[in-house]
Amino acid sequence: MDAHYDFLYLFINGEWIAAGERDTARVVNPATLQELGRVPLATAADLDQALQTAERAFDVWRNTVPAERARILKDGANLIRERSEHIAGLLTLEEGKPLAESRDEVLRAADYFEWFAEEARRIDGRVVPSNRRGVQQLVKKQAIGPVAAFTPWNFPAITPARKLSAALAAGCSVIIKPGEESPATALALARALDDAGLPKGVLQVVFGVPDEVSKTLIASPIIRKVTFTGSVPIGRLLAARAAEGVKPITLELGGHGPVLVFKDADVERAAVEGAANRFRGTGQVCISSTRFLIQREVYDEFVGHFVSATQALKVGDGMQPGTQVGPLANPRQIAKMEELVADAVARGAKVLAGGKRVAGEGYFFEPTVLADVPMEARVMHEEPFGPIAVMMRFDQLEDGLAEANRLPYGLSAYAFTNNARTALDVGDGLEAGMIGINQYRIVSTELPFGGLKESGIGSEGGAEGIEFYLTNKFISQV
Ligand code: NAD
Repeated sequence: MDAHYDFLYLFINGEWIAAGERDTARVVNPATLQELGRVPLATAADLDQALQTAERAFDVWRNTVPAERARILKDGANLIRERSEHIAGLLTLEEGKPLAESRDEVLRAADYFEWFAEEARRIDGRVVPSNRRGVQQLVKKQAIGPVAAFTPWNFPAITPARKLSAALAAGCSVIIKPGEESPATALALARALDDAGLPKGVLQVVFGVPDEVSKTLIASPIIRKVTFTGSVPIGRLLAARAAEGVKPITLELGGHGPVLVFKDADVERAAVEGAANRFRGTGQVCISSTRFLIQREVYDEFVGHFVSATQALKVGDGMQPGTQVGPLANPRQIAKMEELVADAVARGAKVLAGGKRVAGEGYFFEPTVLADVPMEARVMHEEPFGPIAVMMRFDQLEDGLAEANRLPYGLSAYAFTNNARTALDVGDGLEAGMIGINQYRIVSTELPFGGLKESGIGSEGGAEGIEFYLTNKFISQV
């Protein structure tokens, strides 16, 4: 395993720019609290240069034939695969997740570039018959323009990949601001695309004070499309800024994923796989299963298996073989977990597993299972973006669905049942953009990734993903 951390740059106008006199932010390994490096923060002049470059590069890239765009994206995907061991190491060092999860994430990121390379060749239009004789009507799809993309720290490979692959395939230039807490992974993806021959300036990577960067980029008339993954409040803020310039925005925000477990399900499998899924990424996963709604008759059985599986998980440094749950990514997450548990317990909840910070260095928190949590508790309303699972009972399908759909979120939802009728009813009735029946692993390059309600706007991935970087134009000719 190649475990050295990369030097950190801005990537503007095809140049890899070191910090120099610029301000920097510390990047810390959340397992050891050692400093890994310092990420340069873009100045106003850097952002201005990036914007001017994005405008020029858009002209080059939209006029690059789709087959050539596809070749570059495919070559980029292959370079990411070749370098996946190194990139996975960067990811674990800076984000904390176990190396096996990082490897999987990096390879799936490469898959997005390959998928959208193929989609680039399928951007076509329509010839629409006219009501008037002698009139030819064409509907064309064209790249929307330079894109400003904002991605968080929790999936530093796959979230940038979902945005970049579709935008670049469509013919857009992109300025991306990945999370400052895990910057090296996105830079490594950019490096692979640069090495694959992406023309200078088509992709630029900046870091900075998030609010300043988003304000500047979104307000610029050069930017024609915004895409953000992160929390609901910041999504709302960026949507308002985009609205000022009447710019479309794709938002992939939070969730509080319900899991309905019916009495006819394979209860043990739903519980054991549920614990693995809940604590993957130390629970910092927007589509995670968080609220387990279990039909009363099988509640004790499910909870018994879930708690045993949770207590068997090995928590530790993601670089160590055998680690299943790494640290939280930053101290904010630790404070949030402590607050959510304390609040629930103060209101009468029972802690069936975990419940506290792991002593010693690193941002470790025990995988935690809460039961009998009163509805007033914060964890029943707020996304627990960390290792907390909530166990609840329901009686009839309608009650389960009502609880599953109670919150303003609608990202992911899951159900376990061996009854085909029930499966159909929950598939129809769950208000979520992504639904897994009898499985937790649901995301795939060929499927649209996105949420309903306050969980977001638009889709990434699948045949749908590229549409959000295209405009429709008709040409009516006599
Ligand atoms: P946050 O809301 O401060 O930041 C989330 C992301 O948005 C970060 O990458 C941050 O750099 C970026 N950001 C923040 N302010 C911004 C701005 N004004 N303009 C542009 N980008 C901005 O939250 P956090 O403390 O990092 O995490 C808190 C919560 O956010 C989590 O508990 C979770 O609920 C949610 N979150 C969701 C996802 C997701 O995948 N949907 C990812 C990260 C965080």
